[in-house]
This record gives sequence, structure tokens and C-alpha cells, in this order.
Amino acid sequence: MRQDQEDPYQRRSAQVYAAADRAGSGSVASPRPVLYDAVLLDRDGTLIEDVPYNGDPEKVRPVPGARAALDRLRAAGLRLAVVTNQSGLARGYFTGAQMRAVHARVEELLGRFDAWLVCPHDDADGCDCRKPAPGLVHAAARELGTTASRCVLVGDIGRDVAAALAAGAAGVLVPTPVTRPEEIAAAGWVASDLPSAVHEILRRQQAVQPATPSGEPVRTALVVRSDSAGDVLVTGPAIRAVAAGAQRVVLLCGPRGRAAANLLPGVDEIIEHPLPWIDPTPGPVDAQAIRDLTARLGAVGADQAVVFTSFHQSALPLALLLRMAGIDRIAAISDDYPGSLLDVRHRVPVGVPEPERALSLAAAAGHRLPDGDEPVLGLRRDAVPPRPADLGDPGYVVLHPGSAASSRACPPELATRIAGALTDAGHRVLVTGGPDERAVTARVAAAGGTDLGGRTDLAGLAAIVADASAVVVGNTGPAHLAAATGVPVVSLFAPTVPFGQWGPYRVPAVRLGDAAAPCRDTRAASCPVPGHPCLSGIDPEQVVDALRTLAVSGGGGR
Ligand SMILES: [Zn+2]
Repeated sequence: MRQDQEDPYQRRSAQVYAAADRAGSGSVASPRPVLYDAVLLDRDGTLIEDVPYNGDPEKVRPVPGARAALDRLRAAGLRLAVVTNQSGLARGYFTGAQMRAVHARVEELLGRFDAWLVCPHDDADGCDCRKPAPGLVHAAARELGTTASRCVLVGDIGRDVAAALAAGAAGVLVPTPVTRPEEIAAAGWVASDLPSAVHEILRRQQAVQPATPSGEPVRTALVVRSDSAGDVLVTGPAIRAVAAGAQRVVLLCGPRGRAAANLLPGVDEIIEHPLPWIDPTPGPVDAQAIRDLTARLGAVGADQAVVFTSFHQSALPLALLLRMAGIDRIAAISDDYPGSLLDVRHRVPVGVPEPERALSLAAAAGHRLPDGDEPVLGLRRDAVPPRPADLGDPGYVVLHPGSAASSRACPPELATRIAGALTDAGHRVLVTGGPDERAVTARVAAAGGTDLGGRTDLAGLAAIVADASAVVVGNTGPAHLAAATGVPVVSLFAPTVPFGQWGPYRVPAVRLGDAAAPCRDTRAASCPVPGHPCLSGIDPEQVVDALRTLAVSGGGGR
């Protein structure tokens, strides 16, 4: 008898080491797993034209299309809140009564909002509500009876997007002429105007819900995610969705993703096999190995296959093998013409977060997350070992300098300075890395921290990450482990791939690094630019500040 038959709940959500645990999913109004319950809107420059320090209702001018766009959100059942910095109150440029008159005029023109959250402070006040701090986003979520991770914030400057990210919400930037180019470069999601932002919010919300129920019940689903640990982890929510609609789930993964596959809820069996059209350093195609793989896939007896890929990978070679293996319902994302290889040919616009991209394919194949689950990354609790006792209490900061792709690793010299700065600020630092990164972790930890290089496998690392107050890491697997355990991330993000697709998903995060560096969107595995400028310019004090923004204090607290 399989494990899920002994205790079906264990294989599904109860077992999930989900980010939602820490986000307080218990307070979410709807058990239905939607991306968004609420849309938070910046006021000046987003909803209405920016009139600096305006206390006059007569000067309120909505941006074009605002009323109709907001009404679309209301009609879709989304709650709306305004989140606005009004330092003019602190500076005495207008009174509270004048501001309320302005807000009454806004509602007269744009309809009712479910909540208004105003920061009355100035930068000098050091409050936790003035954007880019996440306080207003958390307060709005509370007011609306949901969590920040189920909110999407629309704003016109970098502060808005940063506040959303730091709260674990999604952030959409709608630039105006005053938006700085570096703010546009750093934003993971950019829309040309408010109606377009609303259109895309509703499209993404809809895309993870199946248009039609899956029809024929699925006995065995074969799901496929090749490539590395991070790729497998971000596909986790989609695999849970398939598991909710299938009696048995078999996962085909590659050797580099195997350790992550072992951590995924919803998977009953794993087949490990490299795919030469996916692997970054493939061997030659071995005809006998391909014949053997085809036979093995046929022996699974799957009545449906769902092939997950990144936007630059092709699902079609595998789809051909699956057809030859006798599988007659195959779904995949493919811009390339698939002929008769696919039954469900799904398309996704660029820029969608990888977990949502995969969830939308699962939905196109007829599956959605079960009630009570959340569209967040998660791990099987029983696959994560106990944390070594000699590491002391939870509440440390994990600093993970390495990455399988050197273009996305933190330069060792910078990591060393970060370790020193964090230790000076009172943080307990654990430096983690794989067996081949021991030289770097030893050097970094010598500047401040405990060297755990080579001491853990991926599951052991998950255990350590799960008890951290935050993880400081590049765009690499452990960032997704942090997201899967609900741990905030200071993301030292090399822009070789889009942040909006690969940034830490639905977990409080601060993005650091030069988003407009020349390596942007090159997908380079090793940095093509001398000096690794996208990350080497980070000041270690920015990391200390980022932890403060994430409410992670030195001295081990949170
Ligand atoms: Zn404030």
C-alpha cells in the first residue's frame, strides 16, 4: 500500500512545509487557492494624477481608464485598498481633514475602496509603514482579512514595488515620467498603464484555474521537470495540483534535480534520467539510452503526461518519446508548432513567475490546487531531517554565497564583507555551501559566522534554512528552499534571467544588485562581464538594512 493510501492527507497538504505556515494562512478568508484576494493601489501617480502635497479635492484627476479598471477588479470579487505615503501630514502641508476630503473625492470619482491605509510619517521618523517598508501592505492585508502573499500592489515608483516584495506580496510597476529607469529595471512586473496592470492581474488569476474540469479521471499522471533543484522546487505547486486530480503521480526528473524531487509533496514515484535536450552540459545522444527511457516511460502506464519546462526549453522531444511510449494525453507549454505531439498546447506570456507558469499548465491540463492548499512552494516535512543540534537556537541568518552557475553566485570577496557586516550588526551567521564550495565558505565564515560548507545535502540544508530568520543568497536553489519554508530572502539577484520569473516566490524579499547590468537577460552561466558588476557593487550595509526592512533584528530575534 502506498503512503498516500495509508494517510491521504499526509501526502497532500498537511505534510507540506509550506511558506503559508509562516504567512498565517489560517486567517485567509477563502479556502479556495487563488493567487489574489485583494489589490492594493498606490494613490498619487497610480490612481490619480500626482499633485504634490495636495489637500484640495478640486485637484483630484483620476488616471485614464481608472474607474473602469477598478470596476473590473470589483466585479471579479477582489477587494481593493489604497496604500499611500502622505508625508505632507508630518510636514504640515495639509491637515487630516483636507486629506479625508481628497479621499472622499477619490471615492466619488473611482468608487468605494474597502480600506485606506495612510502613512503620515516622514523619512526621518523611521516608521515601519512608510513605503518601501512593508508595514502598510501588512496592515492592508489584515484589514481586508487576508495575507500579504494573497495581495498584489500596483504602484508607480520603486518604493511601491519594494514594499510589496518586502511583505511577500506581488508588485506591479506602472511607470510614469517620474519613474527612474533603475526602478523599471528592478521591477519584476511592469505594466504600461493601470488598465493593462488590471488586465494582467485578472489574466494571471484566471490562468491557474481550469476552464473545464479534467473530464476523464486520471489514474496515473506522469509529470516531468528536468534541470536543477531550483527548477524542480518552483514546479512544486503545479505538481501538487496534478496530485490533487490524479490517483498516482510519477515524476521524471534529471540527476541535478533528484534531491529536490525527493522533497516534493504529491510525488509517489521518481524516475531519474538525464534529457540531452535540456541539460546544460549534455553528453551525446545515446540511441539505446533513449529507447530504454521510452520503454521505462511506457511501463509507467500513465493516462496523462504533463511536461513542465522553462521558457527557453523545448518539451517536444520528450513529447515524441511519450507518444512512442503510448501515452495519449500530453500537455506542455510550446510556442513551437507541436503537430500531433501535444493534446494540450499551452502558451504563457513572458514574465510570469515560474511557479504560476507551471500552475497554469496544470490548469490547462484540467488540474487545480485543492481547497486549503496555497499557491506557494512547499516541502514534505518527512523528507527534511532534524536540524543539527550544535547550531543553537533558530533565528540565525543563513548566508549562501555559491551557485551552480557562477554568474548567479555572490562574489566571494563581497560575501566575506557581508559576513563581517552582519556579524558586526549582531546577527548570528551560518555560511552554507556544497562540498565543492568549501574553500569559499571557509573564507567567508572566517570573516564572521559558522562554516557549514559541505556539511549538508539539500534536505539537510532545507532543515537549516527552515529555522533561519532570513537567507542571504543569489538566484539559486536555496532561495527557493527559503521560499518553500516561508523564510524571508535577501536576494542578491544577478539579472541574467528575469527577476519576475525567478525571484523568491510569495515570501518576503528584498532585491539587491544592479538590475540593469550588461548581463541582463543573457542567461549566461558564467558572468560575461569582467568584475561581475551586477553583484559586486552591493554595499554590505544594504544587506544589513534589508534585514531591518524584513524585520529581522540582530541578536537572533525576528
Ligand atoms: Zn509611517
